[in-house]
Amino acid sequence: MTTTADLRPATAAHPPTLDFVPVPDEIAVGGTWRRATGPAFSVVDPADGRVLQVVHQATAADVDDAVAAGRAAAADPAWRALLPHERARHLHRIADGIERHSARLALLQSYNTGKALGETTALVASAAGTFRYFAAVLETTDDDLTAPRGNYLSMSVHEPIGVIGAIAPWNSPIASDAQKIAPALAAGNAIVLKPAEWTPLVSLALARIVHDAGLPPGLLSVLPGKGSIVGDAIVRHPQVGKVTFTGGTRTGRALAHAAAEKLMPVSLELGGKSPTIVLDDADIDAAVAGVMYGIFSSSGQSCIAGSRLFVDRTLYDRFLGELVRRTRALRVGNGRDPRTQVGPLVHPSHRDSVAAYVDLAREEGGRILCGGRIPDDPELARGAYYLPTVVDGLTNDARVCREEIFGPVLVALPFDGEEDLLAQANDSVFGLAAGIWTRDYRRAWRLARRLEAGTVWINTYKRFSISTPFGGVKESGLGVEKGRAGIAAYSRQKSVYLGLDDAPDTWAD
Ligand code: NAD
Repeated sequence: MTTTADLRPATAAHPPTLDFVPVPDEIAVGGTWRRATGPAFSVVDPADGRVLQVVHQATAADVDDAVAAGRAAAADPAWRALLPHERARHLHRIADGIERHSARLALLQSYNTGKALGETTALVASAAGTFRYFAAVLETTDDDLTAPRGNYLSMSVHEPIGVIGAIAPWNSPIASDAQKIAPALAAGNAIVLKPAEWTPLVSLALARIVHDAGLPPGLLSVLPGKGSIVGDAIVRHPQVGKVTFTGGTRTGRALAHAAAEKLMPVSLELGGKSPTIVLDDADIDAAVAGVMYGIFSSSGQSCIAGSRLFVDRTLYDRFLGELVRRTRALRVGNGRDPRTQVGPLVHPSHRDSVAAYVDLAREEGGRILCGGRIPDDPELARGAYYLPTVVDGLTNDARVCREEIFGPVLVALPFDGEEDLLAQANDSVFGLAAGIWTRDYRRAWRLARRLEAGTVWINTYKRFSISTPFGGVKESGLGVEKGRAGIAAYSRQKSVYLGLDDAPDTWAD
């Protein structure tokens, strides 16, 4: 069992304390904090394998308690009867709490996911911004008075669903949690969140902040644990009215099947194998930097990672030469070192899966232009590191071009003309994102409209605004998050007719 003392620094590189981690191990079940009833699980720092915290996992019984408490809290007039501006005030208070604790949250996320501190700092800021954004949307969204065809007033109003189940991946916990919690609360629901097994700490810290913000208790539960146990129990629970899921396509598909049994709506944000495209007139420096950021930031563990690079054949060798030169110079290291550009992968077993894909690329006949191995720096030996890798010499039907690797591995392919490019880029089961690098905005626009992707970046990559809807097409997802419609996704529409006749209906005469 880990104690508070175990969370004290192991080396001088570590900060004086991680006391923001909810210690001893407790989870948030319907407004109370308690030890979960499932088996213990060690949460590790992927930079060095050190155990950060032992968390007992939730069970189906904890899910039952959380859903019951959520149902009661959502139905209670203390929450249900709040006016939009009053609910908005709660969301602002949560944002205040996130901002107040931003340095610790960023550090905690860096410890738990390995991400560079600069990235986790930005994710924490974006989480606070998400709560503020949905507070603003809440206050500025109206129900509809619809056109009548008789002597009545007809209207369409939005109502909460009740209890929302949210299932999150491990790559950007605080941002993905906020994207689900903020609009679900804004719409007047309660929410039961299951973080990924490897990364529960930030979600638990966020639950503390939400509770401290003075919301009626029971509105948010955070239940760490296995997907096959806790996630499954949430999805199948008869009183969970909607599930919002971010994760892999295989899991999302299984979850959609379970939801179909209940005829329950689901939102799915799934995987990707996004093409980044360099046309012959691109600004090379900008494109190289953008392609590198698109695949190697977050160590490639990003759903929208630009993992397939298409370069006009006339530019291919020159572009690849420059890309490989600069990729070799990327600084791989501990995410808490401010010089680090590429941190460790989230877990040694995930690193092994990435390494296996690179071995597969070799077997498929690919050339490893850089990386392709674990770094030999002894300082990194205990962490889950993998060098940024560029592969070429394959065709788009190779498995490493078709399957999501979710690591710092870029596959480069040449193309000859726009039709060849579109045929290759769209030849994927995924459709999450795409990037285009060119000086010609007419070509960029033409291609952007024909690429099968939920988001297209032109001369930029991996930039996000909370006001811009985000979602995937094909096997990359179902529905969108963010944007003004974000709250509606957590609401039910109800039609109300208000009769205005002074006399009884003549039909009954
Ligand atoms: P995953 O699908 O393995 O797990 C996601 C979540 O689902 C976890 O919390 C897991 O415990 C849970 N889960 C697993 N089996 C379940 C089941 N049977 N029932 C209910 N829940 C279950 O994904 P991951 O490895 O955690 O995350 C990486 C994946 O997430 C990648 O494919 C990535 O592309 C995707 N992702 C997508 C987006 C997006 O917005 N499109 C964002 C981030 C990550």
